[in-house]
Amino acid sequence: MFGTLRGRAAEGVGSIIPYQGPDPATGWEGGRRYRAAMPEGDTIHNTAARLRPALEGAVLLGFEARRMRAHRPRPGWRIESVQAVGKHLMIRFERDLVLHTHMQMTGSWHLYATGERWRKPAHLSRAVLAVEGWQAVCFSAPVVETFVIGHDPDPTAHLGPDLCGADPDLDLAVDRFALVDEGTQIGPALVDQRIAAGIGNVYKSETLFACGLDPFVPVAEVGSEQRRQLLEAAHRQLRMNLGRNDRQTVPGGLAVYGRANRPCRVCGVGIRVDRQGDQSRTTYWCPRCQISRSP
Ligand SMILES: [Zn+2]
Repeated sequence: MFGTLRGRAAEGVGSIIPYQGPDPATGWEGGRRYRAAMPEGDTIHNTAARLRPALEGAVLLGFEARRMRAHRPRPGWRIESVQAVGKHLMIRFERDLVLHTHMQMTGSWHLYATGERWRKPAHLSRAVLAVEGWQAVCFSAPVVETFVIGHDPDPTAHLGPDLCGADPDLDLAVDRFALVDEGTQIGPALVDQRIAAGIGNVYKSETLFACGLDPFVPVAEVGSEQRRQLLEAAHRQLRMNLGRNDRQTVPGGLAVYGRANRPCRVCGVGIRVDRQGDQSRTTYWCPRCQISRSP
């Protein structure tokens, strides 16, 4: 088994940088256009898929998390599962202990063959799991904590259906729009993980474009059929990108996200970028295809 895993690492399959932290406002990182790396549900699911073969079923040899104050898994404990839930990564150990990490804009998990040089400085590591042949390292994640199932609150309990799943309950997600104020604009509502989990700025922008919907209309003006269409589009786009590194929603890349001032792929008008909602999150949109709002 060890030999097989080493072989995978040598082919570059074992080492991952699922995403790093670009400027979410500009989509630029280090002067380079940033396309596929924004962490959304598909990224976290892809991370789980890459960590799983190395970690699942393995016996923990070592665990470090300098800043974490909660319960820690001990050497000798078995790792039972690696799962993505929305944008959260959950590594479950025996005794119902779960390591919960949330990447937000800055975090990433890397997988290294034992002894391989890390590609980020050690002081940025927030958790390190060692198993035979591998080290899984979580860098810069703002949330690194553990909880005991059935004893502590589940940090994902508030989430709506996971749109990266094979068959999410979209009727339930449509109903969960009731959790947001009807005056909330549809753009910010789509990234509210209580309605449905997995959508970030990229899929919000791409989904609204795919459905021809103005990101600034209030939820009250979006009927339940249209809410369902949005969720179906997001589900389809997220699923299309599981197992991929180069995120695509249309042939050749993304329809609107990261394309400010470039011509719309459908009508040729310049794509716009604006900030929306309490968290001032970035939305890209086409002012012609997505029904213009008044200025
Ligand atoms: Zn257009």
